[in-house]
Amino acid sequence: MNRFDYVRAGTVAEAVQAYGAGARFIAGGTNLIDLMKYEVEKPDRLIDITRLPLDGIEEQGGGLRLGALATNAKVAYDDRVAAHYPLLRNAILAGASAQLRNAASTGGNLLQRTRCYYFYDAGTPCNKREPGSGCPAIGGVNRIHAIFGASDACIATHPSDMCVALAALEAVVRVSGPGGDRAIPFSEFHRLPGDNPEKDTNLAPGEIVVSVDLPESRFPQTYTYLKLRDRLSYAFALVSVAAGLELDGDTIKTARLALGGVAHKPWRNREAEALLEGKPATVESFREAADLIVAEAKPQSENVFKIELARRAIVRGLEQAAAGTPQSLSDKRIQ
Ligand SMILES: Cc1cc2nc3c(=O)[nH]c(=O)nc-3n(C[C@H](O)[C@H](O)[C@H](O)COP(=O)(O)OP(=O)(O)OC[C@H]3O[C@@H](n4cnc5c(N)ncnc54)[C@H](O)[C@@H]3O)c2cc1C
Ligand code: SF4
Repeated sequence: MNRFDYVRAGTVAEAVQAYGAGARFIAGGTNLIDLMKYEVEKPDRLIDITRLPLDGIEEQGGGLRLGALATNAKVAYDDRVAAHYPLLRNAILAGASAQLRNAASTGGNLLQRTRCYYFYDAGTPCNKREPGSGCPAIGGVNRIHAIFGASDACIATHPSDMCVALAALEAVVRVSGPGGDRAIPFSEFHRLPGDNPEKDTNLAPGEIVVSVDLPESRFPQTYTYLKLRDRLSYAFALVSVAAGLELDGDTIKTARLALGGVAHKPWRNREAEALLEGKPATVESFREAADLIVAEAKPQSENVFKIELARRAIVRGLEQAAAGTPQSLSDKRIQ
């Protein structure tokens, strides 16, 4: 690890002011410290934000405001989240381990980096780690990589589970930075790699995530988070589906659907959501939406299997959501 300064901020303004080129904010440290040990991240200043008063969960405007420092465990076990946003709770509990969820923060979860093997290996080229050096995952080991929205520069995926639910719930990210405060719709927070895969998000330098706001709950019963992975626990998604349906009898009034493990950001297809709206909540409608979504998939050399996996996961996720079937992993509380 290289040498770095350490600064502990007492207010958001202090944290923003302490920021400069080469600085990193640190919250739970569950991703950043690993990256520093691998010499993928070499900050010359760490700004500790853990003392900022941003760990609350408050009701506001009919929805909930999740402070950026509220831990993943605190959010998942909040009674209001459990009652009104069980989709989010299930997605969080499908991720990492109890110990990690106790330390990992809401803001840090949004900003965790990809799990591409080459990105973590400082001995290989990687456009995301070192712009312009190349992307060995293209034509290399790419079983876990993207099938949607990739570029010639990078085919990495975003690894978060929580973010997939936040995309389907249409959350809003509130940030504060040198240019003031602003709110970013969740769909615009993360970006596709394009020619600048080193940038995961549309945050400006020095901007800090202050909260994630959930709009009024719409899917407290008819939702699902389905995560498919190589082993049942402690593994990242190969494909995941966050689905929320508002039903009027058997007819779909509103459909929200986001996929994880398949793109550089939680993947939504508005056309497929619109196609479902007004249709009966049947397996035929769900297959039509799934076919539409996977039609634009572009697999890599080792992950053609993800297309069929995604198609089936979408159909099953929507079936489970329509039937109000709770996810098998929804209750993992350790007393
Ligand atoms: C073994 C292992 C398994 C895991 N499995 C899963 C999984 O299955 N699913 C899943 O979703 N996640 C998984 N994770 C990832 C874990 O959820 C993240 O590491 C965690 O959410 C990051 O939060 P943190 O507070 O520790 O962030 P940190 O490590 O402190 O920071 C991560 C990044 O976010 C930035 N940052 C943090 N807070 C802010 C803020 N408020 N504003 C601006 N920037 C900020 C930091 O500068 C840094 O770049 C796993 C992690 C590990 C180590
Ligand atoms: S896929 Fe992206 S992160 Fe992985 S090696 Fe290529 S450029 Fe790096």
